[in-house]
Amino acid sequence: MKHIFILLMTTFLFVKNGQAQEVIQRKFEKMGSSFEITLVHSNPIYAQQLIDESIAEIDRIERLISSWDKNSQTSLVNKMAGIRSQVVPKELFDLILRANTIARLTDGAFDLSYASVDKLWSFNREEITPPSPSVVEASVAKIGFEKIKMDTEKQTVFLPEKGMKIGFGAIGKGYAADRVKSLLLEKGVEAGIVNASGDMSAWGTQPDGSPWQVGLVNPLNKNKIFSWFPLLNTAVVTSGDYERYLLMDGKRYGHIINPKTGYPSQGVVSCTVFAPKAELADALATALFVMGSETGIDFIDQLPNVEALMITDDGKIITSKNIDLDEII
Ligand code: AMP
Ligand code: MG
Repeated sequence: MKHIFILLMTTFLFVKNGQAQEVIQRKFEKMGSSFEITLVHSNPIYAQQLIDESIAEIDRIERLISSWDKNSQTSLVNKMAGIRSQVVPKELFDLILRANTIARLTDGAFDLSYASVDKLWSFNREEITPPSPSVVEASVAKIGFEKIKMDTEKQTVFLPEKGMKIGFGAIGKGYAADRVKSLLLEKGVEAGIVNASGDMSAWGTQPDGSPWQVGLVNPLNKNKIFSWFPLLNTAVVTSGDYERYLLMDGKRYGHIINPKTGYPSQGVVSCTVFAPKAELADALATALFVMGSETGIDFIDQLPNVEALMITDDGKIITSKNIDLDEII
C-alpha cells in the first residue's frame, strides 16, 4: 500500500433498523499490488462471497489491460503496432477513449502511449547509467496519444507506428476500484471502500453513520499523519515516487515518465487527488507529477469536483483552493 491508509474509527458492529451491520474486510494481492476491500453488511458470509466476486472482476480487468500478460487484449493491440488495427472489446475501447480525453485535458502529461519508453528505464531504487539521448529521442518519437487511431463503428484500435505501445499502469488500478465499487453497489452493498494499493473508491458511511476517514502520511516524515480527510462518496488516489524510483548522478527520479522528454519526472514526491471517480483521480495524479506543483495545482483549480494535494522534494505541501490544511492538521 502507498502512504495513504484508511482508519476505521468506529466499532465493527452496529445495529441499524434492527439488523446488526458489520464491517467485513479482506486483503489480497492482485495486479502486482495489495488490495483491500471493506464493506458494511448484515450477512458476513454473503459479504465474503461478494468479495470473491470482486476478486474475479479484478482478474477479468487484468486480462483486458495487463501489459505483462502476452494474451491480454492490450498486448494484442501493442503487438499489431505498425501492422494493422485490432478489434477490441467495447470496455477496452471506451477506456482508451476516456484515457485519451484526459490526455488532451492534461496536454499529454498523462498519455497511455508513454509506454514506448518503458523498456529504457528500470525503477529498482538503484543508480543507473542513463540510456543515450539518441535512444531516448527515438522512443519519444513513438509517443503521442493523438496518433492512436480508433474506429468507433468497427471498434478497432491502431497504433500506426512500429514500436508504439500503450500501458495502463497509471489508470488501471483506479479503473478496477471503480468497477468493483459499481459491482458491489449493484449487489446492494450500501457502504464500503475499495483500496487498490492506495487508489481508493468509497461510498456510504461507516455503520454508525460517520464518514470514512482517510489519513495522509507525509512521505518525508513517514511516522506522522499530517491530515485526515472524510471520504463521502468519492475517490482518493495517490501517486508517489518512494516505491519505484531510480538514481542518476545521485539524484532521485520517480517512475512517472514525462511523455514530452522520455525521462522520468523529478521535483514532486507525492500527489493526492480527490475526484468523483478513481479512474479520473488516478490519471490526474500521474499527470500532476509531470506538470509539477505550480502548473499542476493551477490546473486542478480549474476543474470542477476535483481537489489535490502535492508534496515537493524540498518538503513543500501545496493544495488546491478548497483544501484548507490549517483547518485539518
Ligand atoms: P501511478 O502510480 O498511477 O502514478 O502510475 C504510474 C505508472 O503509470 C508507471 O509505473 C507507468 O506504468 C505508468 N506511467 C508512467 N508515466 C506515465 C505517463 N506520463 N502517462 C501515463 N502513464 C504513465
Ligand atoms: Mg495514476
